[in-house]
Amino acid sequence: MDNDIQNILLTEEDIQSRIAELGQILTEDYAGKDPVVIGVMKGVVVFYADMIRQIKTPCEMEFMWISSYEGTDSTGNLIVRRDINADIAGRHVLILEDIYDTGNSLTFVRNHLLQKKPASLKICTLLDKPSRRKPGITLKADYVGFEVPNEFVVGYGLDYNEHYRNLPYIGILKPEVYAD
Ligand code: 5GP
Ligand code: MG
Repeated sequence: MDNDIQNILLTEEDIQSRIAELGQILTEDYAGKDPVVIGVMKGVVVFYADMIRQIKTPCEMEFMWISSYEGTDSTGNLIVRRDINADIAGRHVLILEDIYDTGNSLTFVRNHLLQKKPASLKICTLLDKPSRRKPGITLKADYVGFEVPNEFVVGYGLDYNEHYRNLPYIGILKPEVYAD
């Protein structure tokens, strides 16, 4: 698995120290608000597990699952495969995401959750690839772990063909891996 990685972009230590920093900020921002922290499956799972343990104030955990209606590319044809269980009307909601790329997914998830009338809704993404944003998407993540260059990254929850999610770091795949 490690042999397929061209270079490591973010080490385990880089990721964990940034999560600790974000945790302090989120703990302060959400103190006394009992937020519902919503993870978008399944790329977020590894980040979610580490991030939630650094939010040191009471909160609830929820997950939702979205997918493309047709095909696998980020076409914007998204549907909710599995919705959250909690009633979030009047609640403070924090969305956790693995990566903010074109913006299709987060825009879709945000609009879906806004219909449920939360008291507030903010976004925390581990990675942000601003160079890939679709024209017209002006939404900004409220909390960002790292800005990354326009490269396809894997590891720490992020996959290529459902693999590499279990790498503890984030890296760039060797081009020959795609060619296989
Ligand atoms: P969007 O383009 O809608 O902002 O991002 C959609 C999804 O595409 C992300 O949640 C993530 O699952 C996937 N994605 C975007 N960029 C990358 C990347 O560099 N690597 C991997 N593994 N997935 C990505
Ligand atoms: Mg995702």
